[in-house]
Amino acid sequence: MNKKQKTLLLRIIVAAVLFVPVYLISEGIVDVRLPRWVLFALFLVPYLTVGYDILRKAALGVKNKKVFDECFLMTVATVGAIALGEYGEGVAVMLLYQIGELFQSVAVGKSRRSISALMDIRPDYANREADDGSLEKVDPDEVEVGTVIVVQPGERVPIDGIVVEGSSALDTAALTGESRPSAVGVDDTVLSGSINLSGVLKVRTTAAFEESTASKILDLVENAAARKSKSETFISKFARIYTPIVCYGALALAVLPPLVLLITGADMTGVWRDWLLRACTFLVISCPCAVVISVPLSFFGGLGGASSRGILIKGSNYLETLAGITTVAFDKTGTITKGNFEVTAVHQNTMDEAELLELSALAECHSSHPISLSLLRAYGKAPDRSRVTDVEEISGHGVTATVDGRSVAVGNDRLMNRLGVAFNPCPHVGTILHVAVDGTYAGHIVIRDQLKDHAREAMAALQRMGVKRTVMLTGDRREVAADVAKEVGITDYRAELLPQDKVAAVEELLRDAKGLAFVGDGINDAPVLSRADIGIAMGALGSDAAIEAADVVLMDDDPVKIAQAMGISRKCIRIVKENIVFALGVKAVCLILSALGLANMWLAIGADVGVMILAVLNAIRCLFVKNI
Ligand code: ADP
Ligand code: MG
Repeated sequence: MNKKQKTLLLRIIVAAVLFVPVYLISEGIVDVRLPRWVLFALFLVPYLTVGYDILRKAALGVKNKKVFDECFLMTVATVGAIALGEYGEGVAVMLLYQIGELFQSVAVGKSRRSISALMDIRPDYANREADDGSLEKVDPDEVEVGTVIVVQPGERVPIDGIVVEGSSALDTAALTGESRPSAVGVDDTVLSGSINLSGVLKVRTTAAFEESTASKILDLVENAAARKSKSETFISKFARIYTPIVCYGALALAVLPPLVLLITGADMTGVWRDWLLRACTFLVISCPCAVVISVPLSFFGGLGGASSRGILIKGSNYLETLAGITTVAFDKTGTITKGNFEVTAVHQNTMDEAELLELSALAECHSSHPISLSLLRAYGKAPDRSRVTDVEEISGHGVTATVDGRSVAVGNDRLMNRLGVAFNPCPHVGTILHVAVDGTYAGHIVIRDQLKDHAREAMAALQRMGVKRTVMLTGDRREVAADVAKEVGITDYRAELLPQDKVAAVEELLRDAKGLAFVGDGINDAPVLSRADIGIAMGALGSDAAIEAADVVLMDDDPVKIAQAMGISRKCIRIVKENIVFALGVKAVCLILSALGLANMWLAIGADVGVMILAVLNAIRCLFVKNI
């Protein structure tokens, strides 16, 4: 509890201690006779102790012409009750209302804190190595790119970088939700936010602090709560219209029935007082706080629960969209397959195998496409980038470059056709990289990708979530696509697509799908990510384009997280609906009872605080995520 909450608690306790004996006296349970004005004064003390800030806020609201809020409702109702001589009820309503407020603020604070604990990846310092070899603790903001920093066991990696000395195991749970430690050694990339578990690492930073993974994730999570969902916007609009309506309703309730009775000439003793009291009760009941607080709290919990699993959802609005997904389209490479191509065959025409591989690896050395990275791995040596100039990457085709003064083109059939180079077709199943040197065909390299470990499971999980249609969109060959689709159980595939064809395919799918998600690795499919109803980027560790373009970012490469994200959002939406229906339902019943004169203020405030506490507890369930 913070200081403000502690003060409120203290005020509640003091007020309750002062209130109870006076109440017992006023009800005649304790036989002490006091003049009425003494009783009034004795009630006024706990009333003001516990409620003075509410009265003040209501007065300020009236002064600023923002009249209709909860404080106003409570003030009118309790002052009304006291003015009508129901001292006890007036004080009790204020007391219980404040107990509710305290509970709510503790609950909100708690869920906020548990989320920031989950996201507690903001590093406080970096150890910079001084020239004499000593370490100095500096603000990570001050560390320039290319500086060598030291990360000791138990410390958090403050900035992204590459290990230059040492080896260790890293805990990346805060980033990916995956608790298995990963081993790192010299030349491996380490990401800020992960925790160094065992050895001392020297790391050369590759990004500035605010460009590092940890800072980016924090930005993303902090901004997520600001993107309001439809239900949240609805609720705040609702409260704005609803509160004045109940106020006028209460006024009507206080005035109209007695007027009717007056006109019909009925006996008027006690009638005015009776209906005024009913109006006050009506006001207490209609206070909308349960709904108003529980809806944003549920979304907040959903976002937090998801991020603890390495699923970053960029706003509550996307939780709603995610819950209604019926079709999922996938990119192939890096999404369903690992993007770890292995060279399975090299068929050469004009030069030997090693030269063919070297030329193509060099031509590809500036690209970050999974194919390029795999070729470089197969090449095995660090590429001498000074030998390569005039690099051009043509998406969906391949690359062209000048290597040692020779023009080299590496890519698929389409690229060869485009350059007017005749090529030999290849009977192997796999992705074929044709290589042309100085305009003549030099041979081809056959590469093959592997399925991700959980790809099949992921499709099955989606099916269980009620996703009817899964479609794979790929730029790769038809044979490869058919093979992969069958292997993982995808219902539909489109092959040999250029990036712009993927956009067209998604647009076509959008026409007959209600709720389309596109899942990609963010490499050359940013336009598709933003076109779908919801764009999900995979393996975001490292890929900036993906973090930018996507609505949902999966921090690691596991495709099962797609179904998990849907599960989280559905649960969250269900809880929001439960709370709305429950709170409004109870209120409706109480309102009717009070209009009929069957509910007193005790029941009213009890229902209000009770509903709020239950709704908040229900909302907190959003934080907890089941495994799928
Ligand atoms: P995917 O849909 O699998 O993500 P892309 O659209 O990235 O595929 O690429 C489609 C095809 O274009 C690849 O299968 C490959 O034949 C060719 N290609 C794309 N980029 C490259 C590259 N850097 N080097 C060689 N070939 C490439
Ligand atoms: Mg791709």
